[in-house]
Amino acid sequence: MIISVASGKGGTGKTLVATSLALSLEKSDVQLLDCDVEEPNAYLLLRPTITQSQPVSIPIPKVDETKCTYCGKCSEVCVYHAIAVLKKRVLIFPEICHGCGACSYLCPEEAISEEGREIGVVEKGHSDGIEFVQGKLTIGEAMAPPVIRKVKEYVKPDRTVLIDVSPGTSCPVVEAIKGSDFCLLVTEPTPFGFSDLVLAVEVVRKLEIPCGVIVNRAGVGDSKVEDYCLKESIPILLKIPLDIQIAKLYSRGIPLVQGMPQWREAFLRISNDIELLVSIERTRRVAQ
Ligand code: SF4
Ligand code: SF4
Repeated sequence: MIISVASGKGGTGKTLVATSLALSLEKSDVQLLDCDVEEPNAYLLLRPTITQSQPVSIPIPKVDETKCTYCGKCSEVCVYHAIAVLKKRVLIFPEICHGCGACSYLCPEEAISEEGREIGVVEKGHSDGIEFVQGKLTIGEAMAPPVIRKVKEYVKPDRTVLIDVSPGTSCPVVEAIKGSDFCLLVTEPTPFGFSDLVLAVEVVRKLEIPCGVIVNRAGVGDSKVEDYCLKESIPILLKIPLDIQIAKLYSRGIPLVQGMPQWREAFLRISNDIELLVSIERTRRVAQ
C-alpha cells in the first residue's frame, strides 16, 4: 500500500508524521521515500545509512548546425520556450528545458540529438530496518518531477510505502502523490493551515485518491479545519496537541515515537484506519 504524506502548507509537521508512522509499523515491511526533493529532511530524523547514490539527468537537445536549416520547427513545438531559432543560430536554454524530446522527435532534418544534464541525485539506504530513499534536487535547478519519478522507481507495492511529499499543491506535489492508495494531509488549525488544506483536498480529489487529515498543534487557532472536514466527510485520523516536549524532540532530530513511545499506538491505529478506508474505497469503486 502506498501512503503519501502531504500538506498544503509548509511546516505543519508532515515529516514528523511520516517518520513516526514508519517507525511504528513493522520496520522490515516499510519503505520511506522522501520526495520533498527541494528540501528533503526525513534523514534528519531517521539518520539512515546511505549505501547507494545515483545521479538523475534529463535529456537536453544538442543541435548539429551542419544539418540544421533554421526552419524554426523545434522552437514552435517547445511549449516551455526552451529553444529559440535565430537567422543562423539555435539557442537552447537548459535551465527551462523539460527534456520532453519533442524538438528532436519533430526536427525534419534529424539535426537534434540529446545529451544528459544532471539535475539531482537519488540516495538509497536503510534506517533501523526501514528501507530509505531520498531525492535531492541540485540547488538552483527547477525541475523537481524527474527526480521524484526516479525516487518512485524504488516503490515496492507489496510493502507499506510512505511518501514524504513537498508542501504546496504544485507539479512536484502531484508527481509525488499520484499512484498513492491514500493521502494523509497534515495541517494545523490556523487560517493558513485551513486555506492550504482546502487546496490540497482539491488536488487529491482530482487525482481520485482517498484522504484523511492529521491536525498538528491542535488547540491553537480556531475550529475551521474541523468544521470543514466534517462538512466534506474527510476523516480526522489524529490530533497532535501543541506541546513543548514534541517541539523540543523535533528540534533535536528525535522522532516523536522514539522520544515519546506512548504515541506509537496512535500511529498504529492510523495505519489500521487507512487500511480500512482504502478497502472501503476499493469496494465502492468496484460497485460503481
Ligand atoms: S527543427 Fe531542426 S532543422 Fe529546424 S531549426 Fe530546429 S534544429 Fe534546425
Ligand atoms: S526537449 Fe522539450 S522542453 Fe526541451 S527544448 Fe526540446 S521541446 Fe523544449
